[in-house]
Amino acid sequence: MIPVCEPVIGAREHEYVSECLRSGWVSSAGEYIERFEEAWADRCGMAHGIAVSNGTTALQLAVADLELEAGDEVILPTFTIISCALAVLRCHGVPILVDSDPATWCMDVDAVSDVIGPRTRAIMAVHIYGHPVDMDPLRDLADSHGLALIEDAAEAHGAQYRSGRDSEDAAWATCGGLGDVSTFSFYANKLVTTGEGGMVLTDDARASDRLRALRNLCFGHKQRFRHEKAGYNYRLTNVQAAMGLAQVERFDEIVAAKRRIGLAYVERLRDNPHIELQLEAPWAQSVFWMNGFVLAESAGMDADEMSSRLLAESIQTRPFFLGMHEQPVFRDLGLFDEQRFPIAQRLSRSGLYLPSGIGLTEAQIDYICATVQGILP
Ligand SMILES: *Cc1c(COP(=O)(O)O)cnc(C)c1O
Repeated sequence: MIPVCEPVIGAREHEYVSECLRSGWVSSAGEYIERFEEAWADRCGMAHGIAVSNGTTALQLAVADLELEAGDEVILPTFTIISCALAVLRCHGVPILVDSDPATWCMDVDAVSDVIGPRTRAIMAVHIYGHPVDMDPLRDLADSHGLALIEDAAEAHGAQYRSGRDSEDAAWATCGGLGDVSTFSFYANKLVTTGEGGMVLTDDARASDRLRALRNLCFGHKQRFRHEKAGYNYRLTNVQAAMGLAQVERFDEIVAAKRRIGLAYVERLRDNPHIELQLEAPWAQSVFWMNGFVLAESAGMDADEMSSRLLAESIQTRPFFLGMHEQPVFRDLGLFDEQRFPIAQRLSRSGLYLPSGIGLTEAQIDYICATVQGILP
């Protein structure tokens, strides 16, 4: 069986984790936490990193720091992981959904301005499957309407975005460095992994202090057990940070491997008329977190059937996200009633992703692509 994704854990991860265990600093104090935070923030071009327990809690902190009033709105794509919508709901906000762009599968940035209203407080952009969202228009909207821009970069460690592409000072910028705050996950299938883990990044020193406090139960400054605000325990351990630092130190290798695999799939599959790939926009460098495709009408099957056919050939796949507006849990809450997002619905029914771990060999990619071509001649 070719698994959909397997982490590759290097010698340095073993070394740093052992060092950590030997030192006895196994909880959320210890030098690896700061080193990991600094190294990752630096990579993304942000001043401050706040390491947390996972990508979901990273989003939760980012939204908590907006200090929403009940009924305030946050705009996000329907086609994403549930963590995004839950973060808003748990802070008494209202998630406002937009559809996907049919080419990048990321949020349709043109749809965002239509849903900005008097209660809008923030836009949450989510880079999907390693491909950047078109951030410039969102930055313009955020600035002109006084909104916060949260960037969920959990699937796009190291992805590059061409900012200001129509101007003279166009420049490549790293995803995770484009929002007012950005969030990452370091789950086992992400480009950097600490097993479970996450981080919030920001350039704003005061936001960084607030986020650190929120991460750690908002302990008092003068009197430790006197709390002015309601915080969370979302701490990461030094052991996890040790593993993360080792991964960050060889991050260029990881990105190169991901791009090599992603481009190999594109080369072998792009001419098949029955599937659509997530092609790189000219202003984007994807990190191909997961290599997905969407079945065209002409394929005559949905993602479920394709997935079973591939499984029979020992190839593991995963279905795409199901839009937030189709989630039973939100329907039960009376949310997103009657809302339709046709692009996202098509992605959910007809999209799936192929094995994408960096341990994948050229021969395995050949086999996988030949099998897909065989099923869809
Ligand atoms: C993985 C992921 C998360 C959540 O991360 P966890 O560490 O699993 O909590 C959030 N957003 C996106 C886009 C993700 O892919």
